[in-house]
Amino acid sequence: MRKYDVVIIGGGPAGSSCAYELAKSGANVLVVDFKKQIGTPVQCAEFVPLQLFNTFPQFFPEPAISQEVKNMIHFTPWGEVVSMSSPGFVLNREVFDYQIAELAKEHGACYLLRTVFLGVEGKKVWLERIDTRERFYVLTDVLVGADGPKSKVAKLTGETTKEFLTTAQVRVPLKSRLNDLLIYFRDYIPGGYGWIFPKGETANVGVGIDPSYPINVVESLRLFLKEVLSDGFIEDTLLARTGGWIPADGLLKLIRDNTLLVGDAGGFCHPITGGGIANAVLSGSMAGKALASGCIQDYEEEAQEVFGTTLKRASQKRKKHMKTWENLQNIIPKTWIAFDEYWKEI
Ligand SMILES: Cc1cc2nc3c(=O)[nH]c(=O)nc-3n(C[C@H](O)[C@H](O)[C@H](O)COP(=O)(O)OP(=O)(O)OC[C@H]3O[C@@H](n4cnc5c(N)ncnc54)[C@H](O)[C@@H]3O)c2cc1C
Repeated sequence: MRKYDVVIIGGGPAGSSCAYELAKSGANVLVVDFKKQIGTPVQCAEFVPLQLFNTFPQFFPEPAISQEVKNMIHFTPWGEVVSMSSPGFVLNREVFDYQIAELAKEHGACYLLRTVFLGVEGKKVWLERIDTRERFYVLTDVLVGADGPKSKVAKLTGETTKEFLTTAQVRVPLKSRLNDLLIYFRDYIPGGYGWIFPKGETANVGVGIDPSYPINVVESLRLFLKEVLSDGFIEDTLLARTGGWIPADGLLKLIRDNTLLVGDAGGFCHPITGGGIANAVLSGSMAGKALASGCIQDYEEEAQEVFGTTLKRASQKRKKHMKTWENLQNIIPKTWIAFDEYWKEI
């Protein structure tokens, strides 16, 4: 039976960043993912801030960048247009995620794809191969849950995220190229927002809503597409559809005996903006370094210190203001637009 120092469930940016740090330190690491290829399919609008590029340039080979953006332009329901400097990139996430995994592999990490995590029993991690339905276990000293917003690792080891935003997104051709990210606040996108994130000739256009409101996310997206079509931004052609869940509770308890949570599995996504790629990479890397140094408790302390307060405050703000979401004029400046301060804090 194979025995590893660390088994990581999930080969997204959080899991592979953790594997990369661990493999560099010489640890014997296994990453398990049910995908056939790391990074594909993409369920994301793909924007990352410039700060992530500056911190981890090795994760950004040229093909991982679809286009550069300069500002985030907000369209409020009362007709105001607020532009905030927001330098960064809209990625080709399939390349970005793949690149991090390739770097981890170059340093010796093993990847087991088309394999599902079933459960954990002491040092045994139970897995199942999708193609053959073969069930087996591997042994490990440490398990890392990097298995995304609906993390099974979190569920089996304690508390899980309870509140989510739900999203629906399409890829469409643009009428003309955009240099900025466009954000729309509308009453038919309750508890969230609509986005147009440009990728050269095309764009990711989507909505994220609070599912407790009585509007279906697909209907919300339909209304949004109608509006941005009439605004003249997009062509009336759908190239692809996607969607997914965004954790909106803030951080969970990150260390449970010999199990750690990173990325969306640990609640690192921002509860208001839904941005989670940068925090996935940062938390994965932080956990990897703590494990490599043998100071596992450092991870919980550092993550709670760097992210905990900001994410908890954002989660509370979202809950408080959601109750009166109809009063958008008061809410938006207190929530979303205040996000600009985030990178200054970490
Ligand atoms: C529509 C949408 C748009 C978004 N847009 C943005 C954006 O523009 N910018 C931004 O920063 N963030 C955005 N996010 C959030 C961002 O996608 C996530 O925060 C980020 O992917 C988290 O990375 P992760 O590695 O924690 O998890 P994931 O990327 O979700 O990776 C988890 C991995 O675990 C695997 N897995 C899950 N369960 C199992 C299992 N039982 N067994 C084996 N493998 C398993 C999955 O296959 C997956 O590869 C968006 C999210 C959505 C849904």
